[in-house]
Parts: sequence; C-alpha cells; structure tokens
Amino acid sequence: MTSSPVDPQKLDKLAEVAVKVGLRLEKGQDLLITAPIAALPLVRSITRHAYKAGAGLVTTFYNDEEATLARYANAPDESFDRAAGWLYEGMARAFEANTARLAIVGDNPLLLSGEDAAKVARANRANSTAYKPALEKIANFDVNWNIVSYPSLSWARQVFPDLGEIEAQQALADAIFAASRVDVADPVAAWEEHNAALARRSAWLNGQRFSALHFTGPGTDLTVGLADGHEWHGGQSTAKNGITCNPNIPTEEVFTTPHALRVEGHVSSTKPLSHQGTLIEDIRVRFEGGRIVEAQASRGAEVLNKVLDTDEGARRLGEVALVPHSSPISKSGVLFLNTLFDENASCHIALGQCYSKCFVDGAHLTPEQIKAQGGNSSLIHIDWMIGSDKVDIDGVNADGSRVPVMRKGEWA
Ligand code: ZN
Ligand code: ZN
Repeated sequence: MTSSPVDPQKLDKLAEVAVKVGLRLEKGQDLLITAPIAALPLVRSITRHAYKAGAGLVTTFYNDEEATLARYANAPDESFDRAAGWLYEGMARAFEANTARLAIVGDNPLLLSGEDAAKVARANRANSTAYKPALEKIANFDVNWNIVSYPSLSWARQVFPDLGEIEAQQALADAIFAASRVDVADPVAAWEEHNAALARRSAWLNGQRFSALHFTGPGTDLTVGLADGHEWHGGQSTAKNGITCNPNIPTEEVFTTPHALRVEGHVSSTKPLSHQGTLIEDIRVRFEGGRIVEAQASRGAEVLNKVLDTDEGARRLGEVALVPHSSPISKSGVLFLNTLFDENASCHIALGQCYSKCFVDGAHLTPEQIKAQGGNSSLIHIDWMIGSDKVDIDGVNADGSRVPVMRKGEWA
C-alpha cells in the first residue's frame, strides 16, 4: 500500500463522512460492514472512525471476485440455487438488535458478463430470496444504514478502459471523491448544506401532492401515478431507531413511491443499466395498468426479461426519482456502471420493491395498508435511468391540471 493511486487523505475523509454523515453511528452501536476485499484500505479507515465514534463492535464480511468466478467455473449445477441463508438470518437478527449497516461497493460491474445468464439469474434469485429477511429491515429503514464506494482497480478498468491502470484508478478515485463531496475542506459541513437543499425540493413536492408525473422525451411518453399518501424524500432521513442518516453517498435524488397499478405508456432508458455483471442497454418498455407488458433492450435483453420474471412485483414500479441533469455526477460525464452513481446523474424509476418510508406516516403502516395505497412489493429493487436534457416532466393534479416540474432535465 506504499504507493496506492488512491489518495489516503481523501479516502480517510470518505471514511469519516461514511461514519459521521452516512451512518451517524451512535455510541455503543454495533456496525456490520460488507465489502469487496479490494476495499480493505477503506474498511480499515471506516473501522477506525467507527470505534472513535464509540462503536461497540465492528464486523466485516468480505467478498472476493476470484472466488465468485471460481464458483461459475467449477461449482456443480445445483450450487446456483443455493445462498447463505444462515448469514442473512444472522444479519436480520443483528438489525433487530439495532446494528447499523454499511455496504461498500467496488466490484467490477461486468464481472459476470461472460458467464451463463441462466446461472447468474438463478444465483441472484436464490440470493434475493435468502436475503429477504435482512433486506426488509433495510428497506423498512429499521436501522441507520449507508452505502459508500471504493475505487477498486477492477472497477476502474471498466470505467476507463483507455487509461493505464494507475491513471484509471486515480481517475475513478477522483470521480468518487468529488461525487461524495469529500474533496472540499469540510466535507461534513458540505453535506449539511446539500441535505438542506434536497429537503427544500422534497418539501415543495410534498406541498404539491401531485397524483401523477408525466414524462415526455425521445422514446418516452410515460404517466407515473403516485401512490395514495406518498411522501417525497431526499438526502438525510430518520430511521425507525431514531437515527437520522444519509443512506446513499453520493445522493442527488428526491424520490417517492409510484402507484403499482397506475403507470401507463412507454419509456426508454437514457443510460445503460449495469445489473449484477451484465450491461443492459437501450431499454424500452411499455406499461399497462402499472405492469410492464412489453420489454426490449439492444443489449442484455435476456437478462432484463429474466429480471422481469423474478416475481409479479418485478414488472411494476417501486420508486420514481428526480435528479437535475446538471447534477455533479451528470456533469462529470463519467458512466460509473454502478447504480449508486449513475442513478444520481439522472431521473430514474425502479422496478420492484417500494420504500415504506415514502408514505405519510410510513413507519406505522402495515404491509397490507401499503399495498392498498399502491405500494409495490418484490424481491428486487432495480433503478434505471430515464432522464436527460431532453426530458420534460409535468406534475398532474387530481383534477387534471398540470404544473411544470422539470424542463429539459432541470427544475422548472
Ligand atoms: Zn433512487
Ligand atoms: Zn432505488
């Protein structure tokens, strides 16, 4: 680690932001981390900051790209229907005991692009099913959680294929540090300011109480009905354990819950979707009664259709999010091949599970009430980008009147 291309000071600031802004870890709270083994320098730095903040116990689970590929190359066929359910049950128990959750992303986004799509889909499905008890606690926001990124070499190679290895990793590190707002003198203060701006946008949208959003642009004429009693969120928010945290670093979006039965029209993706090792490009889908009835893609169509067949809710929307085209991530021009970043470059929708917190008084609604108000449920939650500088968005009121929300990708 003597001459890592990743600036150790900025990496340490990212670790500090993850603990103080992302998690807002409380004294005595335990922390569960998952990370690629390449992110070891960031894990160590986060662990140090977590204990300084008074963490009780920090436990990290690592994954390794070589080990994942070894499974695809050598494992018996039935392996691809297996998942470590015992691990996820343990995670769920940890969250019940108020353990905070931190996920570090940094894997090669195209790691599995050369593998058998059917096996990838089976493994993902087995994993999603096994993960559900733990994922529900995160999706329901029971505890404070956070995702940050480490600029691993295998990821950097994919994002900057024309650069040398050192330059590529430096370039990805710079892009991550800028997007995560840690390349400034006081990152914690910068995040306070950013959170306040996102809170103002959410408050405006909550005041409007639109019944639908209407997206128009090249290849897109889509009406997204909003769930009854939906609530917009953005930036920091408060988990059920009372801790106010910033789940995503970076984040530029304000988002809410669409009505699972009230989405009509067609929509085209504006950026490729990197889904668990496969790149899905030029997605074009048509909705009827909230359900995707037609789906095409110029690349990765097979994977897309497998995703849509995961379960009934996989064909319906669980999130709609607004991001101005001028967001720092969009302006960087970098395609990160990672949803955490790319979704923050553009307005997006998500297939699958909704967030219960995106309802008024969401913390106290039962799953049946959420469903009755239009909230979708699924094993998956997959964001894909539908915004650009050519997309306009109107807010539609219950009486049919309209309010411009975005014009050419910017707040109207
Ligand atoms: Zn989103
Ligand atoms: Zn999402």
